[in-house]
Amino acid sequence: MIHVTCDLCGHPIENPKAHFRVEIEIFPMQQDNPMVEEDLDQDNLEHIAMMISDPEAVEPLPALTKSKFDLCTKCAEKFQRNPLSREADSSVNFSDN
Ligand SMILES: [Zn+2]
Repeated sequence: MIHVTCDLCGHPIENPKAHFRVEIEIFPMQQDNPMVEEDLDQDNLEHIAMMISDPEAVEPLPALTKSKFDLCTKCAEKFQRNPLSREADSSVNFSDN
């Protein structure tokens, strides 16, 4: 039996229906080779294949991280409402610019 515990509150998650997975990817918005739909036409496929065959040509993005978390129902709901764990503080003012 797989034993899963909630990564936020640490409680064991016994019911698979109460098991939620959160995946967070962090990557720089500015990429040298952004994969947009236009890149998928024939000319660019060759270009991409060329880049793949030459590992020196493609540097991995340095800041890229991917994290996975197991959450119970409560923590998943909490996370959905407040993904960045910001304080529910009304004194934070975004509008003054
Ligand atoms: Zn939890």
